[in-house]
Amino acid sequence: MTTVADRVTRIQPSPSTTAAARAKELRAAGRDILDLTVGEPDLDTPDAVKQAAIAAILAGDTKYTPVNGTPALRRAVADRYLRRDGLDYGDKEIAVGGGAKQVIFLALTATVNAGTEVIVPAPYWVSYPDMVRANDGTPVVVDCGEGDGFKLTPAALSPAITERTRWVILNAPANPTGAAYTADELRALALVLRRHPDVLVLVDEIYDEIWYDATPPATLLTVAPDLRDRVLTVNGVSKSYAMTGWRLGYGVGPAWLITAINTLQSHSSSCPSSISQAAAVAALTGDQSVIGEMVDIYRERRDLVVKLLNDVPGLRCTPPQGAFYLWVNCAGAIGAVTPGGQTLRTDADVVLYLLEHAGVAAIQGAAYGASPYFRISFATSTDVLERAGDRIADALTALT
Ligand code: PLP
Repeated sequence: MTTVADRVTRIQPSPSTTAAARAKELRAAGRDILDLTVGEPDLDTPDAVKQAAIAAILAGDTKYTPVNGTPALRRAVADRYLRRDGLDYGDKEIAVGGGAKQVIFLALTATVNAGTEVIVPAPYWVSYPDMVRANDGTPVVVDCGEGDGFKLTPAALSPAITERTRWVILNAPANPTGAAYTADELRALALVLRRHPDVLVLVDEIYDEIWYDATPPATLLTVAPDLRDRVLTVNGVSKSYAMTGWRLGYGVGPAWLITAINTLQSHSSSCPSSISQAAAVAALTGDQSVIGEMVDIYRERRDLVVKLLNDVPGLRCTPPQGAFYLWVNCAGAIGAVTPGGQTLRTDADVVLYLLEHAGVAAIQGAAYGASPYFRISFATSTDVLERAGDRIADALTALT
């Protein structure tokens, strides 16, 4: 009676959510924990966005909307891609959902059968492999090493493609590494993709507005517009506008796929919250300087944590090009012995040691399919980051 379906036993709760819950638990038990696990901005949703949501409530926009979102939201999404990439997406090519996460999940539900392979470059966002498994598919993890900047290369992609491959997932700027592709790197990947016309590409660009270089990251469809018929680009307001709790994401792609996503949505959530849709319209069409202001804050924190952690013996990291995570190589700590006499054998051991000994919560690289690393989020105050840096330095210095 209590048996769940196979698709549930195949997957695990999200390791990042679990790590954040563990940090909260320890805090509740009275421990002084600096939580660097969270994958969301600590900054507040812009005021104009909140006001738009309040206005929507007062105006009675409190009912179901069309499955594919309000016309205003669809227009705002279409305008964004026209403005940014010069690509014109019509109503039948836009889906909206309860977060980018839901759009990705439904895209996989719509296309993956038992045995279907989905190429997931590692390090990967924790949810991709389990989303594939939950939909009966097989994640094919392709290691993207530090030497390649943790990015997928044509040499790694090409041999991973089989006749069962349905999707390649490309996430940039990436969680957990912050890596972004250059136009040339994307052009080279496009050459491989052109040889496999049945393979779809899921471009997850949820962090596309959070970048630190002089120019924004290149996008696949601007360098290879001929791939448009098989690229689903997924985005949302969670990260760019500090709106994680509003649960609003969207996808633009081929009409057949968007129709399938919408059919699934019509039988599951019906539509995302009408109020969040109104808020997202305000975010996407309002004053975009709010993003630059937030990114300036993240950049300062990024520079601070990169410096703090690179000064710690046993740790090494490169500045991320985007997103708000630092991906730290902890190979230098593996094999070391803690003051309690325990040998650190894995990145999970290092993370547990940091939690127990230093009261700093991070997430082990193994959760992202790459070791020995750990991820910290710098979407938190400089005060917390400075204290965490000091504690990590003390903890690593105490190793023998
Ligand atoms: N994609 C990546 C790479 C993410 O890191 C996240 C959130 O952590 C999401 C998608 C989900 O975003 P949303 O809040 O829009 O569901």
